[in-house]
Amino acid sequence: MSLVEAQAEASRAARTLTHANARQEFAVLVAVEFTGQRRRLTAAAKLARDAAAMRSEAAEVSWAATHVGAGGDLDFAASLTEFEELARSAGAEVAATVVQRRAKPDPATLVGHGKLDEIVGVAASSGADLVLFDHDLTPTQLRNLEERLPCRVIDRTQLILDIFARHARTREGQLQVELAQLEYQLPRLAGRGKAMSQLGGGIGTRGPGETQLETDRRKINLRIDHVKEQLEAVRRIRRQQRQRREAVPVPVVALVGYTNAGKSTLFNALTEAGVLESARMFATLDPKLKQLQLPSRRKILLSDTVGFIRNLPHTLVTSFRATLEEVERAEVLLHVRDASSAMLDEQKVQVEKVLGELDVRGKPVIEVLNKVDLLSESERVRLVGGASGAATVAVSALTKTGLDRLLAAIDEALVADPLVEARFRLPQSEGAALAALEAGAVLGKKSFAGNVVYLTARGPASLLERYRRFRERG
Ligand code: GDP
Ligand code: MG
Repeated sequence: MSLVEAQAEASRAARTLTHANARQEFAVLVAVEFTGQRRRLTAAAKLARDAAAMRSEAAEVSWAATHVGAGGDLDFAASLTEFEELARSAGAEVAATVVQRRAKPDPATLVGHGKLDEIVGVAASSGADLVLFDHDLTPTQLRNLEERLPCRVIDRTQLILDIFARHARTREGQLQVELAQLEYQLPRLAGRGKAMSQLGGGIGTRGPGETQLETDRRKINLRIDHVKEQLEAVRRIRRQQRQRREAVPVPVVALVGYTNAGKSTLFNALTEAGVLESARMFATLDPKLKQLQLPSRRKILLSDTVGFIRNLPHTLVTSFRATLEEVERAEVLLHVRDASSAMLDEQKVQVEKVLGELDVRGKPVIEVLNKVDLLSESERVRLVGGASGAATVAVSALTKTGLDRLLAAIDEALVADPLVEARFRLPQSEGAALAALEAGAVLGKKSFAGNVVYLTARGPASLLERYRRFRERG
């Protein structure tokens, strides 16, 4: 064992002790700003500028020009923050971040020689499990970096695919993401032969004179064919099912929005606020889908989705869509926005563009301005007051303020089964009906006359309709 390896081993052992139950991996992040190729306006920034221009708001036009168009610095800082968030979303803990500015990428190793030495040192001394690059690596670069570094090397596309794999919920989505992963791996196989051969590689799977690399390629190709077949089968079944559209018993409300807007924090805050006993069952099945109860007593399934990501690699668009099927199934969307972000408007344009391409027309969208705890009073007034049209609710998922108003807004937006109010007159012997109304609606004061209960209930129309025989007329 070399000195560097021994150091890494010791460091890892120390961590295992302090993070006994955490399964998190430690990552060194590497981001490079290429100064040679002048940053062009991203498509989204252009859209943001055009949108602002259409509304002829001069202030916003200049905002877009100074903050997005010209600024390399703010752009780089923002994308670095975003990259750190992506790493966390994938379950990594950031051990260190290494930044380099260079004119153009080194074809062999992306970063320069001196920088690579530094990364090797940082990875070793921090006992990192992996090094994450905020760029895509060519097969050659990946191979060279893997040879030099004492741990796994993951590039941007692989990282994003990993996050998608965590979020893909439907069978189709999972297959879609796996397919993208396999296709990305295929040309990058060299040097990983050992790991692959341990997976299967029984007698007979290896042809005469075939190298390990060829065997691995063959295995991946077989798996790709298999995934494609399954995908086709799943789609065929889904097409059939769509015709007899199943009634969703509990409406789904999906959180959408940019990475780092605070969706997961809000998801946790809301489910804590309205958590149900039975929700535990869901929690174990799927941590991104939880049942909760609204003030009206209506139940919903809240769904946390993958964040939208700037500069999404083109090859990942299909996989990204696959993680958003939940959004198409949802009845109400909560568009979570980071009110404190300097990129607030650019992000909104990007999110709305993606939503526009999904089948979500006509779905109510509630704009959730999150992180208002970071705003000054005047900023808050300007942002919340300036919001027009769609329902807007200002919250702080962190300090848990505004959650009641948000839950009430969800209640109002659920139009499929609107809230209504009715008077009931029930014999006391109808315990089951009374219990059902109590569980599913908000009851006003009860009054008793003999063995009859009089009460007012406000709840979903479907529930009150079910007990219409006890409704009071007039
Ligand atoms: P997601 O990517 O949209 O799921 O965002 P996360 O929920 O992971 O939050 C991203 C970061 O924003 C985390 O560091 C949160 O602690 C922080 N955050 C979320 N909500 C708030 C908020 O209301 N106020 C403040 N100050 N920070 C927040
Ligand atoms: Mg999240």
